[in-house]
Amino acid sequence: MSGGEERSAPRCGECARIKAAYYAAVREGRRAAAERWCVVMGRHLREAH
Ligand SMILES: [Zn+2]
Repeated sequence: MSGGEERSAPRCGECARIKAAYYAAVREGRRAAAERWCVVMGRHLREAH
């Protein structure tokens, strides 16, 4: 994740879903999955916001 909107909770369901999956991957030490979620989040932010 590239920082950014740490102060505001995600206001769209897709953001919440991606963030939850990202943090779960980090917590479980699945770095490849975490990096993939970063890409997904970046793309989602560009396309949906
Ligand atoms: Zn979103």
